[in-house]
Amino acid sequence: MAFQGEIYIKDGKIKELSEKVGFVKIIQNQNEAVFDNAFAFPGFKDHHGHIVGFGRSLSLINFSDCSSAEECCEMAVNSNKAFNEWIIGYGWNQEKWAETDLPRKEIIDKYFPDNPVYFVRVDGHSAWVNSKALELAGISSNPKNPEGGEILLDESGYPTGILIDNAMELVNSLIPKLSDNHIKTFIQIAVDQLIAYGITEVDDMDVDPNFIPLFKDLDSSNQLKIKVNSFVKAQNDEYLKNKITPKQFKNFNIKGIKFYSDGALGSYGAAMIKPYSDNKRSSGLLLISYEDLLEKSKKGIDLGFSIATHSIGDLANRLVIDVYSKLFEIFQNENIELRIEHAQIIHPEDLKKIGFLSDKGHRIIASVQPIHCISDANMARKRLGRRTRNSYLWKSLMEKGAKLIFGSDFPIESPDPLLGIDALINRIPFSETKSWLERETIDLLDALNGYQSDLFRNNYSSKQLNKNLPADITILDKNLFELNSKNIKSAKVVATFVNGNRVFLNPDYALEK
Ligand SMILES: [Zn+2]
Repeated sequence: MAFQGEIYIKDGKIKELSEKVGFVKIIQNQNEAVFDNAFAFPGFKDHHGHIVGFGRSLSLINFSDCSSAEECCEMAVNSNKAFNEWIIGYGWNQEKWAETDLPRKEIIDKYFPDNPVYFVRVDGHSAWVNSKALELAGISSNPKNPEGGEILLDESGYPTGILIDNAMELVNSLIPKLSDNHIKTFIQIAVDQLIAYGITEVDDMDVDPNFIPLFKDLDSSNQLKIKVNSFVKAQNDEYLKNKITPKQFKNFNIKGIKFYSDGALGSYGAAMIKPYSDNKRSSGLLLISYEDLLEKSKKGIDLGFSIATHSIGDLANRLVIDVYSKLFEIFQNENIELRIEHAQIIHPEDLKKIGFLSDKGHRIIASVQPIHCISDANMARKRLGRRTRNSYLWKSLMEKGAKLIFGSDFPIESPDPLLGIDALINRIPFSETKSWLERETIDLLDALNGYQSDLFRNNYSSKQLNKNLPADITILDKNLFELNSKNIKSAKVVATFVNGNRVFLNPDYALEK
């Protein structure tokens, strides 16, 4: 199924294909590039990521591998990454250190007596800062806690250097604003990583309206190497206030708007029909009402946007499915695109509703991040109890006629599509050996299909490359269809092409001319 042979490219499109065995040859403007023993696939599309956030996380000091507070500080000193005097890092987790108490400001003070320092914990819900940062924020002994936040104090009433939730803002708000050039750099750093994973297109979620002109700039000067479809923030009408409307540029496309119906499972924010199994007093929280989501979506659809709504818990999914059912009824004959982002826990009654809609020709799109399933399995079992059987439904959603599209939610998880494909076909949680709810696994072809853009899904009947489509091609060193399903992750990306331009070449792979 994977393609070997000669691929002729003209004006960014595939003009001719000629099957041969043993190599992939790309022929374009009298240039030839030969990739021996390699296989060409339609380019991977990640349907849910955060490009600026990814670039930012790659640019900050990352403490995720540190095993002590001192090691974090040493890493910060060696990194030489000051931002206007500020030293900013993220990813520390004292649970992984020998000393599991929360770290204190005095440790950072030894390394950074003069620069303000702001280190965010791995979950993003607390920050570890030094005396200089506290001084700039005017936080001294016995401070008043802001609403929804806490400044941790020692026995004598002095801040320890740990700020929780809304208290983080006291320091965070002092960090100089990022310039447009910083943001553009983040975009390019992120894109350079994505192409190395064979990704040729991304649906970029929760885009700040202020980033739109920056993407446009990069695109118009041919510096946007992959295709980016923006889904702009809409919960508080951000896109309307900034007068943003759908528009396709070269590689950049203003495609959709993004809502939230609830929070996350890890922090008990996902809205559930019944209380959490490990916290009977909580069942999460809906972040939008049926009426609001309906009205706001209608407005967006009238303007020509696709609609994407974050939805994790079964109550949130119920609300979104009901709103989408109504929208399909209102916009009967129009071609509208309604996506549920994550779609993690769906009550059997609501799964049925998805089936009824499909029977009427209205396909709900489930935008799923398979890696969340295998990385959160343990936590999900605790939170959900017997309801785990309704969680991360892939096969069931397909059987009900939903259209499944896949992504990673980078930077929360790795953008590597092969990790996602491995999760979809094997469903083996990290640090476990057996498949979890194996009946929900899907086969390789369906998995690959969900990692392709619509254009390819609808035209690549055999999942091969096809004539007259954009030359968005990912070349791998192995044929995924010939690998044992457990070895999918062993394949390596050799090269990535977007509109016929080679945007990535694996330095380990000798290119024959
Ligand atoms: Zn996300």
